[in-house]
Amino acid sequence: MNETRMGNPHVLVIPYPAQGHVIPLMELSQCLANHGFRVTFVNTEYNHKLVKNALSTKEDMWGQIHLVSVPDGLESLEDRNKPGKISEAILRVMPRNVERLIEKIHGSAIEKISCVLADQSIGWALEIAEKMGIKRAAFCPAAAALLVLSLSIPKLIDDGIIDCEGTPTKKQIIKLSPTMPDMNTANFVWASIGNKNAQKNIFELMVNNNRSLKLTDWLLCNSTYELEAAAFSLAPEILPIGPLLASTRLGDTAGNFWPEDSTCLKWLDEQPPKSVIYIAFGSMTVFDPIQFQELAMGLEICNRQFLWVVRPDVIEKINDAFTESFQERAATHGKIVSWVPQQKVLRHPSIACFISHCGWNSTMEGVSNGVPFLCWPYFADQFLNRSYICDVWKVGLGFTRDARGIITRDEIKSKVERLLENEEYKGRALKLKEMVLNNIAEGGESYKNFKNFIEWLKT
Ligand code: UDP
Repeated sequence: MNETRMGNPHVLVIPYPAQGHVIPLMELSQCLANHGFRVTFVNTEYNHKLVKNALSTKEDMWGQIHLVSVPDGLESLEDRNKPGKISEAILRVMPRNVERLIEKIHGSAIEKISCVLADQSIGWALEIAEKMGIKRAAFCPAAAALLVLSLSIPKLIDDGIIDCEGTPTKKQIIKLSPTMPDMNTANFVWASIGNKNAQKNIFELMVNNNRSLKLTDWLLCNSTYELEAAAFSLAPEILPIGPLLASTRLGDTAGNFWPEDSTCLKWLDEQPPKSVIYIAFGSMTVFDPIQFQELAMGLEICNRQFLWVVRPDVIEKINDAFTESFQERAATHGKIVSWVPQQKVLRHPSIACFISHCGWNSTMEGVSNGVPFLCWPYFADQFLNRSYICDVWKVGLGFTRDARGIITRDEIKSKVERLLENEEYKGRALKLKEMVLNNIAEGGESYKNFKNFIEWLKT
């Protein structure tokens, strides 16, 4: 241990075990480490291996951040990909393993844990901390509006909008307040993930999390006041500290599950300014083969440069012949990669727009770089984020599905053209970027919230 830092508070950081949670919590951990805190970062064993494998820097460069792991009790990758199984493991297996980990740390010569900083999605970690007499803070890597929705569950039940298991009583559009984005009850986060069992577990987790939040001194989130004014006025206890970006620390993103292919940055350097369509669907979206081919054909008829992230597991059954001939035809103006340094890609001047599944991290990263969006949400909070992008901030357009549920090549071409030919989208995106980044500049609201949090950690 670094002698000069001995005695600095030791923070245990626990993300929900998914890529979109690990990256922002790792970013927050690096901010804490830069302030001299010792951080122990807890992944599941499975994710720990992925993260270690994908790390571009040597572990000893990490100094104050220690990556550790706990078992999640799942045996196969197949189980891990089933929403019902993973939520079951998170609810019933991980808590006792995390408790044991803290006991082990406290029984060793390592500095005791002085604060548990838990992902808001796993409120049980706050309960463990309280039971063990450790101070605690929660961090939500999603929109504040999602948290407000979660906190509104009792009212939604009282008002007959959902039943006690979270099932919407009917499909309808609601608003949590007149200035909040529209929410379609069929797209409620718990109602749009996986099967009935997954819905039940996720709803239970959210109800439990609302209870656990009463035990925390801090409820931080990766957002800003201006982006979600209505949500923050409904729940002023939520404090934004976003946008959390590696570039603010002049560092690199960490916590990737796949190694980054940085060759795309060189390729982007060779493209004209604002010419490239960037296409990425986060870490979990899986494509139906017909839709996958339709997207490829859509990109082809757009006849513009594109950079497309095709994760190795993005499609269940890949048609090699199609992919090869597509790649051959597109080689002059398109690049397909398996995982990119997304924050750097979005910051690149050659990016024109972002075809996105609207995960919250991707949303914040696009907004922070003034990039207009084409929205293609799949599940969870992605529909809500799309409402923000298209209806509230007006920095993007949504795709419309046809009667088969497919987003056709013509729809892709027409929306790309509409977005890029109307400069108002880019203009608003640049204004939004400026407003958002002011928050993390010295004296900005997110900056102040984070500073106050640091002061509290030190006490
Ligand atoms: N990401 C990345 N490289 C890629 C694709 C995604 O680094 O090629 C990162 C992206 O920058 C974001 C995260 O993965 O930080 C995905 O989180 P998001 O909330 O957007 O989506 P999720 O994966 O949770 O659906």
